Amino acid sequence: MNFNIALVKGDGIGPEIVGSAVRVLDEIASKYGHSFSYNEYLAGGAAIDETGVPLPDETREGCLASDSVLFGAVGGPKWDHLGGDERPEKALLKLRASMELFTNLRPARIYDALKADSPLRADIVDEGFDIMIVRELTGGIYFGERGRRDGDKGPEAYDTESYSVMEIERIAHVAFQTAMKRRKKLTSVDKANVLETSRLWRETVHRIGEQYPEVELSDMLVDNAAMQLVRNPSQFDVIVTSNMFGDILSDEASQITGSIGLLASSSLGEGTRGLYEPIHGSAPDIAGTGKANPIATILSAAMMLRYSFGLEREADSIEAAVEKALCEGHRTGDIAGEGDRILSCDEMTDVIIGYLR
Ligand code: NAD
Repeated sequence: MNFNIALVKGDGIGPEIVGSAVRVLDEIASKYGHSFSYNEYLAGGAAIDETGVPLPDETREGCLASDSVLFGAVGGPKWDHLGGDERPEKALLKLRASMELFTNLRPARIYDALKADSPLRADIVDEGFDIMIVRELTGGIYFGERGRRDGDKGPEAYDTESYSVMEIERIAHVAFQTAMKRRKKLTSVDKANVLETSRLWRETVHRIGEQYPEVELSDMLVDNAAMQLVRNPSQFDVIVTSNMFGDILSDEASQITGSIGLLASSSLGEGTRGLYEPIHGSAPDIAGTGKANPIATILSAAMMLRYSFGLEREADSIEAAVEKALCEGHRTGDIAGEGDRILSCDEMTDVIIGYLR
């Protein structure tokens, strides 16, 4: 099959890690008889330097015309003095909005070989965990009315949360469908004891759940979910939640895996076109040194194959090659223990490609 992939490498380690993912995709293409064509676009600081804006029209249009987008990371100290809409990070927010990406999928799993890196107690980590957080990405309090005003007690600020039934229904469908492809267990996280939006959320998720009788649905309050993620993460399969709760819980879930250099994410809208990126930033402190761990971006490319291109077997093979590399003790600096030989970004990519062959 042929797919047209927009590459947005961005800043810092972005070009190195996207370059690694492209090498892995090329290996998949030759092994399974696909063809991937790539178009490169500027975003973030690199785009500011070249065109004066973080997301040039050409990038937006190129991404919209692609089958999917593989994104590195944007930002760095060089552009830290810029404010608001001029900042490199704005590129990502604008691109998500232009592509109408309302779903963010973030897997958080612990690899057997890296259990010692988790900040959780050994007896908790020993149970293992493999969680998929489905976060609503374009609604809720981050997009509601906000402002400052004079109140009874003096100057005040406010943010508002609203969710339409349609917004909840569409994310609920994604979550149930994701659960159907996994262990068929869905936890809907809300704050229904306090918030009206959460009561609508709960009601709507349960109504949509009637269409997915095979999925075991339960509700959990967000404060409890934050505790349960560190007490007993193995109880979760898929978690679905609103924009702000998902923002916080997905960072917590990534932290308990032990390394941000391993974690992928995908953002999807109505169709199959998505935006795939590692959860970490541009790591300016190690840019250009060859120390970047390419795994999060390589796993993001695997998610692209699975969720946008329907290439399940190919995605599985990348994930298996990464797992094998870790099990066999191959380490980049961020996940190395004492005495481990430290691989560069390119060397780790070579090892993974070797296991793919
Ligand atoms: P960061 O994720 O870039 O780095 C945090 C720490 O983790 C650093 O020590 C870095 O060296 C290390 N690290 C990150 N990714 C790594 C990898 N693949 N391999 C090895 N080590 C890795 O976060 P930060 O330092 O807070 O932010 C740096 C810049 O990135 C800022 O400008 C920030 O705004 C931007 N940022 C961008 C995104 C994005 O593009 N999606 C996300 C977060 C931060």
